[in-house]
Amino acid sequence: MAINLPGLADIKAISKPLLANLQKLGIVDVQGLLLHLPLRYVDETHITAIRDLRSGEQAQVEGEIVHAEVQYKPRKALIAQLQDAGGQLLVLRFLHFYPSQIAALKVGTKLRALGEVRQGFFGYEMVHPQCKSVRDETPVKETLTPVYPTTAGLSQASLRKWISWALNNGDLSETLPAFAYEPQALPSFAQSLKNLHHPAPEADLYQLEDHVSPYWQRLAFDELLAQQLSMRRHYARRRSIGAPALKPSKALITALLRSLPFALTSAQQKVAVEIGNDLTQNHPMQRLLQGDVGSGKTIVAAMGALQAIENGWQAAIMAPTEILAEQHYKKMQDWLAPLNIKVTWLSGSQNKTDRAISLEAIADGTAQLVVGTHALFQEQVVFAKLGLAIIDEQHRFGVHQRLSLRQKGQTSKTKAPHQLMMSATPIPRTLSMSYYADLDVSVIDELPPGRTPVATKLVADARRDEVLTRVREACEQGSQAYWVCPLIEESEALQLKTANDTYAWLQESFPELRVGLVHGRMKTAEKQAVMAAFTAGEIQLLVATTVIEVGVDVPNASLMVIEHAERMGLSQLHQLRGRVGRGAAKSACILLYQNKLSDTARARLKIIYESSDGFEIAKADLALRGPGEFLGLRQSGVPMLKIADLERDTELLETAQGLAEQLLKEYPTYVDKHLERWLSRAEELVKV
Ligand code: ADP
Ligand code: MG
Repeated sequence: MAINLPGLADIKAISKPLLANLQKLGIVDVQGLLLHLPLRYVDETHITAIRDLRSGEQAQVEGEIVHAEVQYKPRKALIAQLQDAGGQLLVLRFLHFYPSQIAALKVGTKLRALGEVRQGFFGYEMVHPQCKSVRDETPVKETLTPVYPTTAGLSQASLRKWISWALNNGDLSETLPAFAYEPQALPSFAQSLKNLHHPAPEADLYQLEDHVSPYWQRLAFDELLAQQLSMRRHYARRRSIGAPALKPSKALITALLRSLPFALTSAQQKVAVEIGNDLTQNHPMQRLLQGDVGSGKTIVAAMGALQAIENGWQAAIMAPTEILAEQHYKKMQDWLAPLNIKVTWLSGSQNKTDRAISLEAIADGTAQLVVGTHALFQEQVVFAKLGLAIIDEQHRFGVHQRLSLRQKGQTSKTKAPHQLMMSATPIPRTLSMSYYADLDVSVIDELPPGRTPVATKLVADARRDEVLTRVREACEQGSQAYWVCPLIEESEALQLKTANDTYAWLQESFPELRVGLVHGRMKTAEKQAVMAAFTAGEIQLLVATTVIEVGVDVPNASLMVIEHAERMGLSQLHQLRGRVGRGAAKSACILLYQNKLSDTARARLKIIYESSDGFEIAKADLALRGPGEFLGLRQSGVPMLKIADLERDTELLETAQGLAEQLLKEYPTYVDKHLERWLSRAEELVKV
C-alpha cells in the first residue's frame, strides 16, 4: 500500500542542470513535481476573431502577417499587422526585439499571437504578444496552459513537460477514504491534480487563481491533514512515555498563595488547574502556557514547581537571559524560602566554587528548585530526580535546546519529566491549531486588576527635547524610566557604541538624576548590580538595549522611551512596552521614530499605537510577516505549509483537526499512506 516515490536523480532523461534547477524550487521527487502548482494560467484553447476582441482582455488570435517594419520614431519599434480570416487587422508591437523576430514576422507568415489587447492609436494592438507560427491544421490547446513559479534558467516549457510527465507516470492514487473528503464536496486527489495543472477550457479562472476551487481546496485539505496527523502522532508518541504521577499539592501551594499580597485572577486559577491535572498523569505534560506580558505566568509556574517538590521531585525553571533568570531566582527565593524550599541558582557566569556547589546540590537532590539560563542543559548538569522542567519565553530557545532539557530529566527511555513552556508572544488561534497542534495550550486571557493601561505616544525624533522634559518630570515625581537604545542589527559594535553614547548624553542632560546603563555585553555581575539598583530605586533612569525586552519586572517604572521604534518588530515593541504599566501609577510609552517611514514600519507603529492587546498585535504581526517569520525559531523543526493558507482555509483546518483524531484511532494504514505522500520529503520532525 506504500507509495513509491522515486527521486528525480534516478531518472536518466533529467539532466544534472535541470535537476539542480528543480532542486532550487524544492522539487526532488515525482511527488514534488506533482505538487508544484501553477501560479496562473493562459488560455490557448481557442482563437478569437479580431472583430470580437475587447480591450484589456487576454486573447489568442490567428492570421497572416500583411505588413511589417521597424520604425524609429517616436522610438524604435517593430510593428507588424496581422490580418485574420475575417479580414480585420491587429497591430503587434515590439519595443525590444531580436533580428530573429524580424525574420519570424515576415509578410506572408501565418501565426498565432497571444497577449493582452489594448486600444492603440491605429485601433487594437498587442504589445509583446507571444507568437507562434502555425500551419492550417495546427490544433489549438485542449486545456488551459499553466504558468508555474520558476527560477532563472528553468523554462516554462521544461517545467510543463516534466509536470505532464509526472501526471502520466506518478502515483495519483487516493490516500484517504472517501468519507474523509466527499462529504465536503472535495474531489479526488487525482482529479484535483489534473484539473489544477491542466484545467478544462471552460474552467473558472478566477476561482482557480484565487485558490478557492475545489481542486486547490482538496490539496490544501490534504496538506493540513498531513500536518495534523504528524503533529498528533508525535504528541501521542511522547504521551506513551512514562512520567512521575504527581499528586495534587496539599500543603505547599496553599501556603504560597496565603503568603501572597494578591489573589490569583480567575484566568490564573483556570490554567493552574489545567497544569495541576496534567501533573497527576503518568505521562509527561506537554503544555504551552500563553499569557500576555504581565498576565502573571510566573506564579502559575511556581505552583507547578511546588506540586513536583511536594511529591519529592525536583523542578527547574530555565529563562533565556541572565537578567530574567536572575529575577526569577530572586522571586522564587522570596516566595519559596519561607516554605523551607531550597532554590538553587545555576548560570554560565557563576564562579567555579559556586557552580560546583550548585551542581552538587542538583545532583544529590537537595536542590529542590533550580533556576538558571541555558547553563541548565549543559553536560555537567545531572539532576537527581527532575520531575518538571519549566521553560520561560520558550520562543527564545531553539528546538534543540528545549529537547535537551527534556532529555536531562529522562532517566530512562521510558520516563521523562513533565514539561511546561511559557510564552508571552500570544499565538493566534489558527497557528496554535496548526503549527502547535503537538502541544496542549493554556491561555491566561486576563490581566491582574489595578493595572492602568499604558498610554502610547508616537513622537518624531525631531521633538526629542519634549521627551526629555517628560522624563525629568516623571523621575522628579518619584517614578522611574527606561530609555531603550536603537536596535542596530548590522553591527554589535555599533550597537554598543550607541548605547554608550546615549548613556553619556542622558547623563549630561540630567545632571540631577541617577542614570544607569545596562547592555548585553556587560559582565553578569555588572548587569546584576545595575538591575538590582534599578529595582531598589537607586537608579532613576535606566538606559538599556533590548536586553530588557523579556520578562523584567520593576513595578515602579512608569515611563519608557524607545528610540528608533520603527526598526523594531511588533512583538518586540509589545514586550518592551509591557515593562511599564506594572504598578498603580499611570504609565506611558513614547515611541521615537525617524521620519521617512517605510510602509511596513508605518503599519507596525500604527498597530502598536492603536492596540495594547497582545493577541490583536500578534494577529496583525502574523498578517504582516507570514507564519514562517512569525514562528521564528520553531520553524527550524517544522515544515511550513505550502498550499494551504491558514486564514483562507480555517474551515478546512477545523475539519482536518477532527478527522485526524478519527483516522489515527480507526484507520492507521490510511494515516501511514497519507503521511508518506505528504511528508516524504520532510526531515524527521524534531519537535519538543
Ligand atoms: P508575565 O506573565 O509577563 O511573566 P509576571 O509573572 O512577571 O508576568 O507578573 C507580572 C507582575 O504581576 C508581577 O509583579 C506579579 O507578582 C504580579 N501578579 C501576578 N499575578 C497577580 C495577581 N493575580 N494580582 C496582582 N498582581 C499579580
Ligand atoms: Mg514572565
